[in-house]
Amino acid sequence: MKAALVLATQVFERHPAFDDPEIDLVLFIESDAAFRRRRYHSHKIVLLLAAMRHAADRLARSGTRVERVGLESGLGFLDGLRALVREHGIDALAWMSATDRGIDQRLLRFCTDQGLRTRVYPDALFLTPAPVIDEWFAAAPPSARMEDFYRWQRRRTGILMDGDRPAGRRWNFDADNREPLPRTGIDVPALPVLPHDEITRGAIAEVTERFPDAPGDPQNFWLPVAPDSARAWLGDFVEHRLALFGRYEDAMAEGEPFLFHSVSSALLNIGLLTVEEVVATTLAARDRVPLASLEGYLRQVIGWREYMRGAYRAMPELREANHLGQTRRLEPWWYTGCDIPDDLPVPVRTVLQRVHRWGYAHHIERLMVLGNWFLLQGYDPREAYEWFSTMFVDAYEWVMVPNVQGMSQYADGGRVATKPYISGGAYLQRMGSWWRNDREARGSEFTTAYWEFLEAHEDQLVGNPRLELPLAQMRKRRSG
Ligand code: FAD
Repeated sequence: MKAALVLATQVFERHPAFDDPEIDLVLFIESDAAFRRRRYHSHKIVLLLAAMRHAADRLARSGTRVERVGLESGLGFLDGLRALVREHGIDALAWMSATDRGIDQRLLRFCTDQGLRTRVYPDALFLTPAPVIDEWFAAAPPSARMEDFYRWQRRRTGILMDGDRPAGRRWNFDADNREPLPRTGIDVPALPVLPHDEITRGAIAEVTERFPDAPGDPQNFWLPVAPDSARAWLGDFVEHRLALFGRYEDAMAEGEPFLFHSVSSALLNIGLLTVEEVVATTLAARDRVPLASLEGYLRQVIGWREYMRGAYRAMPELREANHLGQTRRLEPWWYTGCDIPDDLPVPVRTVLQRVHRWGYAHHIERLMVLGNWFLLQGYDPREAYEWFSTMFVDAYEWVMVPNVQGMSQYADGGRVATKPYISGGAYLQRMGSWWRNDREARGSEFTTAYWEFLEAHEDQLVGNPRLELPLAQMRKRRSG
């Protein structure tokens, strides 16, 4: 009997196993132990459970033989797999290569121990095949950055290219983008509200019962859990938010968690949407949206997302990196959301509460509010990594390590980002109007912490051309 195993992060509508004539049986494992590895946000557990159950249901309806290990069995991942192998006389196992390190190796070892033949399909979560991205990173000079990768990617795929030139004759439209939200005169479209079907209601009930301490209220679950609703969700973004994505990409607003973002990472990262689909759907709107927005958005998806996956593969040492030697541990309220200290700056408090509610914050909030605060306060980057990994619906090792350790915490000493992403209150006020006025922002805890950070790490940061000005300003303040 030849079986294919569908991992929780690979719930593709068209998983290669489904068209493989060799496969007799498709397996799904809801591993209790995997969901308990951290105290994950309840919405992430609901998303993964409901998406797996919908995939199994679709497949069974189409006449494929499906076997599952349910959460109620209490079995761990390999124990569940072992039970299925024995029960169904499986002698060959196929799966799609997993993005996070270690999973393929564990499965290969398992198959060797059980005497199973194996077959591994290539990872379909990305546009760039793994060997191709590995080759790019291996050949790139140490000075290469995301921008180099992105231009290569555009040329390689022909996306937004007019012949060998970039569409609009520019690679980058940042100068047209990144404005703060005006105080009046703009309506931010609401996200679609999705009804829950029986399968999703079941997953919500089970998570409520079995994971009572998980952050977030499972009853408020809000994301699509099947490919058709994920496509409709993407369509809603393209219709209502993509046109202003670029302009307000870096904006923050106290009452608006989503602004003009696509809120698609949680879906892309488990195969409910594919990159190919996202590219085709957004390009189809090319005549209706400004090129600056379209390019700004595709840069994230075919540039940043793929680049971070490549960086994760190329730099295994990033996971434990701590270049600045930061040691502070996170206080329990980061996880519980209770007893948040009164003096926590408004942007941090607001975004923290949002993360508890939705398991989501948009990029600039992750980077310039949460990440910035962690860095300025001296938290150990591995503590930050654990927190992000626990609290976000879209968090997986491959994307967290380069984003948290690399981009946000400068734990790699500047390999992913060219400088630490830090700022005082003035930047946050400009992009988010978090304080009553600019004076309050400039006098805020963020600003004090910013100068203290530069002073404390002067020796480690000196010589970085992008920090020359802030370091000079810090020295002037110190001496004056
Ligand atoms: P949009 O703003 O609409 O962007 C479109 C898509 O581009 C995203 O859905 C995502 O798939 C991709 N993307 C954009 N930037 C990045 C990036 N830097 N790395 C990878 N993909 C990117 N992304 C995750 O998918 N999972 C995470 O756990 C995660 N953690 C992060 C932690 C920190 C500290 C930082 C700074 C960034 C993190 N990101 C993570 C990247 C990015 O912030 C999120 O992908 C994005 O905010 C998701 O919201 P969205 O779908 O509305 O994105």
